[in-house]
Amino acid sequence: MTVSARTRPQLKHTAPVFGSGEQVLIGGFGDVTEIADPTGAVRALLHLLDGTRTVERVHTDLAPAFPDVTFDDVAGAVRQFDEAGFLLDADAGPGGLLAEHEVRRWERNINFFGSYARLADNKYDQQRKLRDCRVTLLGLGGLGSHVLLDMAAMGIGHVTAVEFDRVELSNLNRQILYREGDVGREKLGLAVERVRQFNPHIDIDPVNLRITSTEDVLGVIEGADVVISVADRPKMEIANWVNEACVARGVPLVTGGLETQRAVYFTMIPGTTGCVECWRRQVFATDDVSRELLEEKRERQIGGDNAAFCPLVTMTTGFLIGELTRLVTGIAPPVAAGRLMELRFADYAMGESETWKRLDDCPVCGPDRDKKPSAADALTAN
Ligand SMILES: [Zn+2]
Repeated sequence: MTVSARTRPQLKHTAPVFGSGEQVLIGGFGDVTEIADPTGAVRALLHLLDGTRTVERVHTDLAPAFPDVTFDDVAGAVRQFDEAGFLLDADAGPGGLLAEHEVRRWERNINFFGSYARLADNKYDQQRKLRDCRVTLLGLGGLGSHVLLDMAAMGIGHVTAVEFDRVELSNLNRQILYREGDVGREKLGLAVERVRQFNPHIDIDPVNLRITSTEDVLGVIEGADVVISVADRPKMEIANWVNEACVARGVPLVTGGLETQRAVYFTMIPGTTGCVECWRRQVFATDDVSRELLEEKRERQIGGDNAAFCPLVTMTTGFLIGELTRLVTGIAPPVAAGRLMELRFADYAMGESETWKRLDDCPVCGPDRDKKPSAADALTAN
């Protein structure tokens, strides 16, 4: 990228300058960039990048002490600092993107997005994308109640929330939207009411539905930019229904769950990653143990719901919301696209458990299925 003379670069607060003598150090997130500075020009230049001066003015103000430094030197240094992620465009404000209340409510999000921003970006636009996006959330149980509350905290603007169940006393070790006095009442209305109190600006469309088919899923994901599925019954079938519907509509799916001491999650992007059926076929072809486990699960629904531990629920929620944010804003690519990521409670070891490719002959996402413009394409174009 070329740097315009009129750009007003501002060194980020997340990139503090320190060090002394002939070496400049610029801080980051757990790492430090070292720059040799025998003349002191680099330190002087960084000092001038406070967002009040254009690049042209920075050069003018640097000239008395460093007459040999040309405008091209300054522009080149600004470009390098920008590539390293140290600079914001001080003129990139919230105007036309966010209202004043939104800027204040999501200030800390916006500053987080600022840590990713380059000179060509506007950190406020990332929050605008969250506000304008539409998410369908399947399930308001352990993960779902945390996910809904976190989406409201993040400033996700539009949510279709799907649930049919009632509150049980044993839900309350983790399902934080419900109270002891709610036992026996329907979760959906309670969850929506409490989340609206927390963030009255969120638009929630509550759908009281027990999902029993692909058609049911299709009916609640129309117009969604992303689907988060944390509905877990019936275990095997619901994964297929949600997969088929998301592929048919071209909507990215973020999903995860708990296996007692392990949390897992993955992201499926229609047309880009393999789908759930691609994954299953690859497991069946290559991995005898996993195949037997899957067959067994199908037969007997093993790995039941009798253990669910809040720390793993909240950590998994963080991963799901992180994937959602990556998909919607594009600040970074999704971590779990076509990969089953796992977190083991035993030692908090984290990493990839399985990965799979898109299969050309997949009956769900292969080339023979109907081709339609997809929400995944729209997100990338956004
Ligand atoms: Zn597939």
